Order: sequence, then C-alpha cells, then structure tokens
Amino acid sequence: MTILSCRNVSLSYDGKTAVEDAGFEVVRGDCLSIIGENGSGKSTLMKGVLGLLKLDSGQVELHGSRRTEIGYLPQQTVVQKDFPASVREVVLSGCLNRRGFFPFYSRGDRARAEENLERLGIADLARASYRDLSGGQQQRVLLARALCAAKTLLMLDEPVAGLDPVAASGFYALLEKLNRDGMTLVMISHDLSSALRYGNKILHMSKKPLFYGETREYLKTSLYRRMTSAAEVNESEWR
Ligand code: ADP
Ligand code: MG
Repeated sequence: MTILSCRNVSLSYDGKTAVEDAGFEVVRGDCLSIIGENGSGKSTLMKGVLGLLKLDSGQVELHGSRRTEIGYLPQQTVVQKDFPASVREVVLSGCLNRRGFFPFYSRGDRARAEENLERLGIADLARASYRDLSGGQQQRVLLARALCAAKTLLMLDEPVAGLDPVAASGFYALLEKLNRDGMTLVMISHDLSSALRYGNKILHMSKKPLFYGETREYLKTSLYRRMTSAAEVNESEWR
C-alpha cells in the first residue's frame, strides 16, 4: 500500500533551484534512503514533503495519514544541543505537532511519551536535563520525540551525523527494529554503506534525481560503481 507519493517536485530559494523534478513512492514498511553529496537538495526535498517549504511545482500525496502525523527528526543544530529542558519535556513536545497549537498535554499524550521513552531505552533519563546528555542519548531523545508524532511514517535527516561509531550503530539498530515493527522510514544518509544496508529503496539526488528505485537495482548501476571506486580512492588517500 502506497502511503506517500511525490511527483515532479521542484523547490528553490530566492529563485535558485535546489531540487528539480524529484519523485518517489513509499510503500508501507519501506525504508527509503536518500543519498547524495552535500548541497544536493536532500534536506530541501524532505522539508518540501513535510510542507515546511512551498513547492515550486509537483505534488506530494499522503495516503492514510496527515502531514502532522509524520514523525520528523531534523538535521541537528548547535542550538538544539543546548536546549534547557528535561528529557521528558522534550519527548512530550513531540505530541504537540499532532494537534496544532494547543500547548496542554492530555493524559494520552503523557502515556505516549512514557511509552516512547521505554521503547528507546531512555526511561531512566526522563528527569535528566537534555543538554547534559551525550550526542547519542540526545539523538535517542529526539527520536522518541519524533515517534510521539509518527503514526506510520518517520522521516530522518542524517540521524547519526556527529555520533561516534558505537552510538551510530546502536541508533541504526533502533531504527531497524522500528522498521521491522512496521514503521515506514525515509532517511537521509551521508554514509553510503548504511544507506544500502538499511534501505530497500534508494533515491540518489544531485539537485535532480540521478537514480530512484530498488537498492538491488542501484547496485547494478554505473553510478554505484563510480561511487564506490571514488570511495576507494578516498580511503587509499587516508592510508
Ligand atoms: P543537502 O541536504 O543535500 O546537503 P540542502 O537541501 O540543504 O542540501 O541544500 C540544497 C541547496 O540549497 C544548496 O545549494 C544550499 O546551499 C541551498 N540552501 C539550503 N538551505 C537554504 C536556505 N535556507 N536559503 C538559501 N539556500 C539554501
Ligand atoms: Mg542536508
């Protein structure tokens, strides 16, 4: 069942095109990995899909949920790292998106927040101050927050950027479990091997989409071969 489709989407900033003619479809249970170099329009496309930026052209259609029911984990900023609130408050605030501006929490919201704290193994941190946590813990808190909004679809923008390898693999394990339990994922990834490992579909952006389709088809493309031979060159430079 298709839950999100995106057709011929273009976006720009002050008349300068950032995304041109992008399209994809997400079926329930998918993990779509969006890859591409810095500045290739990945975050812009995701914001367009979420309705945070106005499309120049194209259509975004959601089936079976509203935009406010998409969980969103934005690319982390320095300001967010210093957020002066408790873990519980940060997670609870994820419930607000669902109802628009109505800054009171219902009993259901509180239950949902506790459930997601448990689900991500951070219930014991509920009273801790968000800004005192490690990067990996903060990212779990933001994931729990996004899950408070998410009904069936979660969008993640470079969720492990800045995490050490142990925290990153722990975070991927959480995402894999969520996906197995039925959460559909759209994930921007700066790391090709994780994108291929976790994604059953790939969208490779370079302002325009260079490839969109099943991961196993992507592996057969000359684009993929170029990507991996470039990576080998980079690696050998480090040796
Ligand atoms: P990616 O996420 O793939 O690194 P972005 O979607 O952030 O790329 O950016 C795509 C292009 O749009 C880049 O050229 C970037 O400089 C530009 N851009 C991104 N955000 C803004 C903004 N708020 N104002 C103007 N230009 C922007
Ligand atoms: Mg980005």
